[in-house]
Amino acid sequence: MENKINGLHHITVLASDPQQNYDFYTKVMGMRFVKKTVNFDAPDVYHLYYADEVGTPGTVLTFFPFPNARRGKRGVGEAAIVSFSIPKNSLEFWIERLSKYDVQFEGPSEKFGYQYISFLDPDGMQIELVEDEVENLIGWETSEVKREVSIKKFFGTTLYLDDSDATEELLKTVFGFQLLEEEGNIKRYLTGEGKHEAKIDIVVNPNGVRGMQSAGSVHHIAWRTESDEAQLEWINKIRKSGYHTTDVIDRNYFHSIYFREPGGVLFEIATDEPGFAIDEEIQNLGNELKLPSQHEPKREMIERVLIPLKQTIEVK
Ligand code: ZN
Repeated sequence: MENKINGLHHITVLASDPQQNYDFYTKVMGMRFVKKTVNFDAPDVYHLYYADEVGTPGTVLTFFPFPNARRGKRGVGEAAIVSFSIPKNSLEFWIERLSKYDVQFEGPSEKFGYQYISFLDPDGMQIELVEDEVENLIGWETSEVKREVSIKKFFGTTLYLDDSDATEELLKTVFGFQLLEEEGNIKRYLTGEGKHEAKIDIVVNPNGVRGMQSAGSVHHIAWRTESDEAQLEWINKIRKSGYHTTDVIDRNYFHSIYFREPGGVLFEIATDEPGFAIDEEIQNLGNELKLPSQHEPKREMIERVLIPLKQTIEVK
């Protein structure tokens, strides 16, 4: 069978203050904090993960917070918008909620027949909440954001590119994406099936400015692959297509390869396994600082450098 990318795995973003980031995503957005760890390549920086109840691939938004980072500038060569699927008829709830928390938003608007609202997170990352068919998805539930309105998964993401020809060629012929529709200056691609479906929008030269990555900028987009075997096939396929990719890197919760797509966006391909329950029970996800074995000997030093997070543990 042909190896196709089956949707998104996670999206990783740069942030500033970790507490502000934690409060916004757990409280206002009502996502579950599923892992508190460090950037494995720079362990003096947190790596914070927010997702559904169990950290299902395709629901996982992660951050590298640098406490004093300045805001980035959105522009070409990056993923500029992160879109989440919410249940039908829940936009009204979110509009009221964002107003309550003084988050300015635009919309409701419509794109490709989907109703959505758009706003910025505390560091300026652009978020869309899109009403979508999500009946059987679990999401998460907090005292204020109940299941019938909660975020279920990524709806998709929007890439801002200078010239999209080579990127589209990669998405179509190597990744197996399907061009769904075009509307105005947006081309919408589809990857994945059923609950793994994600829509990737491509906008060429939206403001002519090159993105400047800092707080609020998407650092990379990780695509799903089911197994380690399939991932090895991806390495071959990507290298044969003329791109340089890393070898497999063990990220503890998944195994990853990285390469830069021709439009400048950093891509990762990550395995579904082993998942976030590898080092703590599902009911305790996110409660303690978890370090991979290579950094465990430096725990004391790491804990001294990181700003402790004030966590409110939401029990279902
Ligand atoms: Zn990643």
